[in-house]
Amino acid sequence: MKTIFLLKYGELTLKGRNRRDFENKVIKNAKHVLKDHEILVEKIFGRFVIKTDSTNEEEIKEIGYKLANFVFGLSNVSIGVIVENDFDKINEVAFEQAEKFIEKHDPKTFKIEVKRPFKNMPGTSTKLAADIGAFVWGKLPSLKVKLVDPDMTIRVEILEDYTIISSDKFECLKGLPVGSSGKVGLMLSGGIDSPVAGYLAQKRGCYLNCIYFHSPPHTPQKTKDKVFTLAEKLKQYQQGIRIFTVNFTEIQLMLRKTTDMQYFVILGRRMMIRISNAIAKRYKIKAFITGENLGQVSSQTLENLHCMNSLAHRPILRPLITYDKNEVIEIARKIGTYETSILPYDDCCTLFLPPNPRTKAKIRQLEFEEAKLDFQSLVDRAVETVELVDL
Ligand code: ATP
Ligand code: MG
Repeated sequence: MKTIFLLKYGELTLKGRNRRDFENKVIKNAKHVLKDHEILVEKIFGRFVIKTDSTNEEEIKEIGYKLANFVFGLSNVSIGVIVENDFDKINEVAFEQAEKFIEKHDPKTFKIEVKRPFKNMPGTSTKLAADIGAFVWGKLPSLKVKLVDPDMTIRVEILEDYTIISSDKFECLKGLPVGSSGKVGLMLSGGIDSPVAGYLAQKRGCYLNCIYFHSPPHTPQKTKDKVFTLAEKLKQYQQGIRIFTVNFTEIQLMLRKTTDMQYFVILGRRMMIRISNAIAKRYKIKAFITGENLGQVSSQTLENLHCMNSLAHRPILRPLITYDKNEVIEIARKIGTYETSILPYDDCCTLFLPPNPRTKAKIRQLEFEEAKLDFQSLVDRAVETVELVDL
C-alpha cells in the first residue's frame, strides 16, 4: 500500500493566477527538499499529496520530518494511506490505521473526522464519520469516542479518485513559499541575530543571497568558515545559496586612520550599505535584511538606523526589530544556528571597536567625517574584490 502525505497550504488565501504561482512554488520547494527520495507529487484542489512506494518506516518518518521542518508555505502534513472510494475498504483501513496508532501511542479516546471536498459519495460527512466510528469501535470497544480533543483522530479525506486515511498529523512552518517575494540580500555576520533574521525573511517568501564583510588578515579564516556554515543552514530552506564576500580591510583601516573613532561603527555600516547598493543593482536584489534590533546594542538606535536607511537604495528589512534576545536565541536553537553563532571568532565589527560608539549619530556629522575620505573609490575598490560563491 502506498504511503501518502497530505499537505495543506498555509496562508494561501490568494486567488487566481497568484494562487497557482504560490502553489507551484510550494510544490517545487517541497520536491527540492525531498530530492533524495523517490516520490510522486499530485496537486488536488486546495492541497497536494506526495506518494511514495517506500515501506521503510525510517524513510517515511524522514519525509514527514523534512516536509514539516523545511518547507515554508505549508500548514500541516498528515501521513496516511490510500484506498479506493469504497465504504467497506474505508472502514477496514480506518481500523488498521487505528490499530497502528494504538501500538505506538496507547490512546484512550478517539474520533473519526471525514472531509469530502468533492461530495462524490452519498451521505453527509457527519453520517460517514459516525458509520466508520461505529465500525472501528465495534472492533476496539475499549476505546471511548470523544469529539473534542481526543487522543487519536483518524482522518478520512474522500477525494475524487481515492480516499486518504491518516492518523498522524504534524504542524508545518506556515509562512509563504521561499521565492514568492523575490530575491534579497541578507547581511550575514557570524553572530546570533542575522541568521535568524534570514530565516524569518525566508518565512515571508524571500529567497536569500548573503552579503558578508570580512577584514583579512585581522579577521580569521575561522570567522569566514563560520559564516559559510550558517549560510549552509539557511540553504536547507531554499534551493542553493549565494554568498558575496566583501573585503572590508582597507575601509576599516582608512576609517580608523582618518575619522573620529566614536563614529567608527556607524561609518562602517554606511560603507556596508553603499557596497550592498552596488551588489543589489548588479544582481537584482530587491531588499536588504539585517539582524538589527531596536536598542539591543548601543549602535541600534532609531537615529542610527535612520543614518543607514537614508543611504540605502533598497528597503532594509529588520525582522528582529521587535524581538527580545531570548526569543531570538530560541529560534536560533530551533534552526540549529546557535551553536555555530556562539563560536568565539572575531567579526570585522568587533575589531577596532571604539570604547564609546556614538548612539545617536546625526547624518550631518557623518557626512563631515566621510568628507575626509575618498569614499566612492573605496566603495568601488571593495566592490571589485567581491568574491562570489554558490553553495
Ligand atoms: P549579529 O548577531 O547578526 O552579528 P549583532 O546583534 O551582533 O548582530 P551588530 O554586530 O551591530 O549586531 O550587527 C547588526 C547587523 O549588521 C547584523 O545583524 C548584520 O545583519 C549586519 N552585519 C554586521 N556585521 C556584518 C558583517 N561583518 N557582514 C555582514 N553583515 C554584518
Ligand atoms: Mg555581530
